[in-house]
Amino acid sequence: MDVVLLRALADASGPSGHEDRVRAIVLQQLAGLTDRVDTDPMGCVDGVRTAPDVSAGRLMLAAHMDEIGLMITHVDDRGFAKFIPLGGWDAKTLVDQRVLVQGREDLVGIVGTTAVHLMDEAARTRAPKIEDLAIDLCMDGERAKSLVRPGDVATRIRELAEVGDLVTGKALDNRVGVYVMIEGLRAAGQSRMEVHATATSQEEVGLRGARIAAHRIAPHIAVAIDTCPADDGPGTPKDGPTTRLGRGAAIRVMDASAIGHAGLVDLLVDLANERDIPHQLHVSGRGGTDTQSIQLSGQGAIAGCISIPTRYVHTAVEACHPDDIDAAVALTAALIEEAHRLLPGN
Ligand SMILES: [Zn+2]
Repeated sequence: MDVVLLRALADASGPSGHEDRVRAIVLQQLAGLTDRVDTDPMGCVDGVRTAPDVSAGRLMLAAHMDEIGLMITHVDDRGFAKFIPLGGWDAKTLVDQRVLVQGREDLVGIVGTTAVHLMDEAARTRAPKIEDLAIDLCMDGERAKSLVRPGDVATRIRELAEVGDLVTGKALDNRVGVYVMIEGLRAAGQSRMEVHATATSQEEVGLRGARIAAHRIAPHIAVAIDTCPADDGPGTPKDGPTTRLGRGAAIRVMDASAIGHAGLVDLLVDLANERDIPHQLHVSGRGGTDTQSIQLSGQGAIAGCISIPTRYVHTAVEACHPDDIDAAVALTAALIEEAHRLLPGN
């Protein structure tokens, strides 16, 4: 695993609709790995590897660049900025964070909570709600208002760290997916199909960028590359975890947004077996990925999802196992080389 690239991707601030800092890294990477790079008005980046035979069809890989973030609604006279969520937050994980506010200049803010000394009994047991919280810009209101206005965005500050066997940081959902897509492309040999490595926008607010990208690319086969929640942490289900760190790349069979194409799921399992790539199946009735937008775009696509098991998804301590990341890279490379097997006549 190239921790330098993963760290650059994960530490960059890129909330939904404001993916430009991540996009700059992706553009630089894809430029060296593809024949051309296209962009669209939603801010998706599409690195294209052309095929020797145009009639061989199009394979789309999709990894979303955006992370959950905050959008400022109001700055008050004391320098506190109120906000609404961009994406699915658990409010209690926002308390205690330093955030990067992209105002007229980059500012650091803090999200605190009432000191325990000042809390009444009821407040001690009540979980905070987003609307209870504010970003303390740590300056007087007049200066704060001159630097930050409604519509500005913020993300958590948390540098990627290697801890024990794992890597941990914010926004591994889904910078680890972007990393796997880039490294999968780097590792892959020749594909018979035209390959589109697409870094998508605005996934966390409703799988939006992928919808536009898929409409334009009109892929025959597509895989989203995204994290999936590992249930092997504290609060493991009584009958045991189903998705574990260190057990390999996760082949996502189903979630609330999509049922993976059965033939594509089978192909991914076959490729993993043929190439001794550690893998596990992820089956869930919850969550979703860009798979849905792509599967239902245009006249439809054979679509599925390669996932990287992640503990504590949507917190600032998201954690992945480097071996799973490497396995997902190998599986992505295998698919690039062999996806054509799913098309008629192969
Ligand atoms: Zn994601």
